[in-house]
Amino acid sequence: MDLFQTLQQLRFGEVHVAHDERTGLRAIVALHSTRLGPAIGGCRAIHYPDSGAALHDAVRLARGMSYKAAICNLPHGGGKAVIMLPQDDDFDRQALFHHFGKFVDSLGGRYITAEDSGTSPADMDVIGATTPHVLGTSVGGGDPSPFTAFGVRRGIEAVAAFQFERSDLDGLHVAIQGLGSVGFNLARELHDLGCSLTVTDIRPENVQRAVESLGATAVDPDDIFAVECDIFAPCALGAVINDTTLPMLRTRAIAGAANNVLAEDRHGIELFRKGILYAPDYAINAGGLIKVACEFIDTDADANDIRSRVAAVHDIMTGIFERARREDVPTHIVADRIAEERIYAD
Ligand code: NAD
Repeated sequence: MDLFQTLQQLRFGEVHVAHDERTGLRAIVALHSTRLGPAIGGCRAIHYPDSGAALHDAVRLARGMSYKAAICNLPHGGGKAVIMLPQDDDFDRQALFHHFGKFVDSLGGRYITAEDSGTSPADMDVIGATTPHVLGTSVGGGDPSPFTAFGVRRGIEAVAAFQFERSDLDGLHVAIQGLGSVGFNLARELHDLGCSLTVTDIRPENVQRAVESLGATAVDPDDIFAVECDIFAPCALGAVINDTTLPMLRTRAIAGAANNVLAEDRHGIELFRKGILYAPDYAINAGGLIKVACEFIDTDADANDIRSRVAAVHDIMTGIFERARREDVPTHIVADRIAEERIYAD
């Protein structure tokens, strides 16, 4: 890709690169925007085929973080770090992350890093030895997924109010794809609020747990799209709303934790045409980000404080739905508009 053309298209701020021969560090930190505050976003450490692929991932993910922070009105911009892991796994991980911490520190607090694919709280601890601009250390906040799940539940409550004129979830039928860290927590919350659940997962033990402890009905992974339900909650993979699955849907709303739910923008337009309410992914799944941002802003915040901030996902979703109705445009377009108005405000 042409670097500057891409940066211009994505209205991008800065890209920083670090290379260290001694540790083998090859890292990119992409800062989409710092206009609303320090850029926040995880550090992904995986094998990339080449630096172009790593750069593509960094800028795409950083932009996504900007929109997510902006839609939640957080005082943060969006950033992302990618580390191209050495091809040979026999490298000194501690030395590499130690050097990466120095790189983060050299950005003077304009980027705050955290865990992502291929990194762990232990890696964040090593980074924390060289910079204070790190979240998700082992002594820090811990797993954000229960907060993500709680945010999705609040988003589903907003869907219920808007689409079904319901003030509670009692008796609503929700089909959940994926019963991992977020999906199972969500299933438990919805069960406690009186929802009936149809679930699927490629791991039989996850399905069995939901059937046994929550009375859920199980279906095969390929059958979840065709389940007749009030709300479909994708909590496994991206791009699940696509040309193949769209004609199968028998739901009135889509609201789940997965990132990049729409394979392409046009699938969101098609949902709109069909009258299926779509809860934009980066808004409804922002509970984890709200949690880590909250820990950064207010180090004394306890789980109850954080939960009450995450509860705001309800109002964020309602704001998107109401504006979409007023302007007669799909919800995913409205979410982008709101985020862009905040990111690029004069
Ligand atoms: P996870 O890996 O813990 O769970 C994913 C689950 O989906 C697993 O149980 C897996 O077996 C299942 N799965 C995979 N492929 C499937 C398929 N084809 N059909 C059915 N089930 C399938 O991940 P998670 O942390 O629960 O995250 C779930 C989704 O939410 C991901 O898309 C993630 O990017 C997104 N998300 C997570 C968080 C968070 O705080 N963890 C925050 C924002 C967004």
